[in-house]
Amino acid sequence: MAFAGTGKTTTLVLYTKAKPDKHFLYVAYNKAAQEHAELHFPDNVECKTLHSLAYEKVGSRYKHKLKQLKIRTIMKTLPDVGYPHARTVQETLENFISSADDVVKVEHVPERKYGKDRSHSYSHEYKLVRYFKIYQLQSPVLTGFDYLLIDEAQDCTPAASAFLLSQKCTKILVGDPHQQIYSFRGARNALQEVESSNTFYLTESFRFGPEIAHVASSVLKALKDIQEKTLEGVAGEVLDEKCSKQLNVITRTNYTLFNEAASVCHAKEDVKVGFIGGVKSLGLDRVHDIWKLRRAGSDTAKVKTLDIKDKLIKHFGTFPALEKYARDAPDPELLSKIKIVEMHEENLDEIVQLLKSKAVRKNHSADVIFSTAHKAKGLEFDHVRVAEDFLSGLDSGLYLDELEDDEKNLLYVAVSRAKKSLRLSQKIVNLIHLQKPCVKCKSQVVEELIVSGEGFFCRSCARSNFPYLESLALEQSAFCTFSPKLNPVGATRVDFEDF
Ligand SMILES: [Zn+2]
Repeated sequence: MAFAGTGKTTTLVLYTKAKPDKHFLYVAYNKAAQEHAELHFPDNVECKTLHSLAYEKVGSRYKHKLKQLKIRTIMKTLPDVGYPHARTVQETLENFISSADDVVKVEHVPERKYGKDRSHSYSHEYKLVRYFKIYQLQSPVLTGFDYLLIDEAQDCTPAASAFLLSQKCTKILVGDPHQQIYSFRGARNALQEVESSNTFYLTESFRFGPEIAHVASSVLKALKDIQEKTLEGVAGEVLDEKCSKQLNVITRTNYTLFNEAASVCHAKEDVKVGFIGGVKSLGLDRVHDIWKLRRAGSDTAKVKTLDIKDKLIKHFGTFPALEKYARDAPDPELLSKIKIVEMHEENLDEIVQLLKSKAVRKNHSADVIFSTAHKAKGLEFDHVRVAEDFLSGLDSGLYLDELEDDEKNLLYVAVSRAKKSLRLSQKIVNLIHLQKPCVKCKSQVVEELIVSGEGFFCRSCARSNFPYLESLALEQSAFCTFSPKLNPVGATRVDFEDF
């Protein structure tokens, strides 16, 4: 069990170096993690992703079929089914692919009637591993290794767990159960599922100091009632003039990410913004096309004159038809974009241009980087501001114990990305019962709590203490222009990453 920033890679590297005559296979959760590992592990360790393991054996045969199964393809194959039905087929197959099962079963069909459709929790990483299912079904045996090192084991799909845990060699699973953010249908995470002979805890974080560790522990304590074996911050660094001035804003949803980015771009003329996953991940062109469709209303003649490029949006013909589908499906990705369009009815055109013009290609040159908590996982940043949209279920009347663990874990992932300073809104401070007076003026935090290596500050004292952080203080004053008033889409039970 390795908590955030506790040096699990370093620990594994030292372990493999201590056994130079043994052969290790390090199974990384994505390509970036594999490349990072290759730089650090000694020669007796081979670093692979599940994707690359499967590709070597079976993937090359399906090179021409690597693209995601499209809804249009399903509709061509099954000509009698409509769009929503085809989507159910697609999701059923996705669920089967992630499962440990040999055949498609009724359980793989999404349970829409409960309004708790989880299928959109799948990460894009896993979407790539389509042929991994073929590989897993062949019950492959890995040879030539004495040890398997399985990283981020809490997020293994049931299919991946089934394959990895069936191997005969010694298996070392590494992960953090509190960072599990992809719950798979019918599966518990591999870290808890497996009966281990030994469990070791890494609890000292070298990423941040005791103050940020205290925030992260407060999240675990307040939300999950976890008090023992959690984080201790041991990094000694405090803020200084030379430290990076880049701010990272972490949001729960793409909808909030859009609004936050819009407000920052609007507030500051010469600001440069970056997005983890690139500006492309915002799908601005699709948002723009939905906006055009909405302005045409149900006037089909008018729609025909619009220059709508997005094939999916074109398919629906009118905005009401698109909206009905998105709600009925429900399609969180589309609902999120519809929500953006409805919120920014008047000036969406302008905002899309603004975001495109201020987005930089290389994130290191950005003043502010935006990321959802899902995308921020595994990354670390100097200065983090956590947006207010976490645990939104509480706003709509749910109790804490009714929230999914994934939701709570996402806030933990967000706060534990910060290395030097962390800004939390009062809402989050209240949620995690982190009532701390400002170390300077001794007043209780108002509006925003700023946590740094020197303690807990209110917004104005932080400003006077760390003037060089002023450039990060892109205040929300301009936010009123783009302020989300209320939720126009209605019930938000389907609040996944894409929403
Ligand atoms: Zn103060």
